[in-house]
Amino acid sequence: MTHTIMEFHHVEQRFGDNVVLKDINFAIEAGKFYTLLGPSGSGKTTILRLIAGFDRPTSGEIDFAGQKINDVPANRRQVNTVFQDYALFPHLNVAENIAFGLQIKGVTKNEITTRVREALHLVRLDGYDQRPITAMSGGQRQRVAIARAIVNRPQLLLLDEALSALDHKLRVEMQAELRQLQRRLGITFIFVTHDQEEALAMSDQIMIINDGIIQQSGTPVDIYDEPLNHFVADFIGESNIVPAIMKDDYLVTINGQNFTCVDAGMRPNEKVEVVIRPEDLDITTIDQGQLTVTVDTQLFRGVDYQITAHDRDNHEWKINSIHKTRVGAQVGINFDPEDIHVMRYHENEQEFDARLGNYEEGK
Ligand code: ADP
Ligand code: MG
Repeated sequence: MTHTIMEFHHVEQRFGDNVVLKDINFAIEAGKFYTLLGPSGSGKTTILRLIAGFDRPTSGEIDFAGQKINDVPANRRQVNTVFQDYALFPHLNVAENIAFGLQIKGVTKNEITTRVREALHLVRLDGYDQRPITAMSGGQRQRVAIARAIVNRPQLLLLDEALSALDHKLRVEMQAELRQLQRRLGITFIFVTHDQEEALAMSDQIMIINDGIIQQSGTPVDIYDEPLNHFVADFIGESNIVPAIMKDDYLVTINGQNFTCVDAGMRPNEKVEVVIRPEDLDITTIDQGQLTVTVDTQLFRGVDYQITAHDRDNHEWKINSIHKTRVGAQVGINFDPEDIHVMRYHENEQEFDARLGNYEEGK
């Protein structure tokens, strides 16, 4: 059975006049892998610092296991953090680094030895106890930092851009390892990253933050298939985001043409945006296609061709196709009703009209 271990209720954080978090609400269930995903400066570290107890929120309530913990100091929370720079002590060896927190808590020597060994085993560093930190590689230091956090047996482990300093290959390996470690330990992880691929690959649940607001929460598949707004659609994966008019339930006008879709429940003639993923577009002949485009670039990527093209109104289309075409060729593109994802439009209406205007005049 899942249960909630941590909740934010209407949490706001200000630094002077700067409102860095605006009305943050979420619930964290025990035993899952969460990722807090967002661009630099969006408020991710600020949220982690509130969870860890390094800062107090300006307003709102933070609960742990059903109790309000706004005023509980960091050292009394069952939360540990792995920082991006690891923050290891260079003058201590591996075992001493991991044992440090336990010594401060007054845990017995025997118990410390057992737990350090256990933690080293979990991060696959058996036998490295006496190594100086300075003799460890980047990937090994990363593991020591994780061992130092899990040796405290926290209920919640926070990892702030914990893999960002590693090179690509090691980083992908560590993603898989971290995921396995989380499953073995059964501890709740909140992993912070600005890398959407990393978030999609690792998480049970993703919370996407931008500008101090949670934009969307859900499983990786939910978020990829059903982005709630322009920001999410643009940030997650590659996408074509096109202004459109929702004529009626299941009928949307894109580029002056009507298309059947699977969305309903908007006002008639509501201004919307549609998201069509590049991999959902098929290239065909002009007479078989729903839209005609001219190919601008084509890049072979091994599994497919990454193609950019423009329509008659000069809007760009990104297409990922297993079929080759030719730069300069006029081709048709097709997509299925279920590949059209309709989003409500809340942004700048003038900007929307200008983008849509091009389409209307192009007729
Ligand atoms: P992220 O981790 O997503 O990159 P942060 O949470 O570190 O973003 O920061 C969010 C915003 O809050 C940034 O604009 C940052 O400059 C500001 N900020 C963070 N900490 C402080 C602070 N102690 N004082 C003033 N501004 C801060
Ligand atoms: Mg940060």
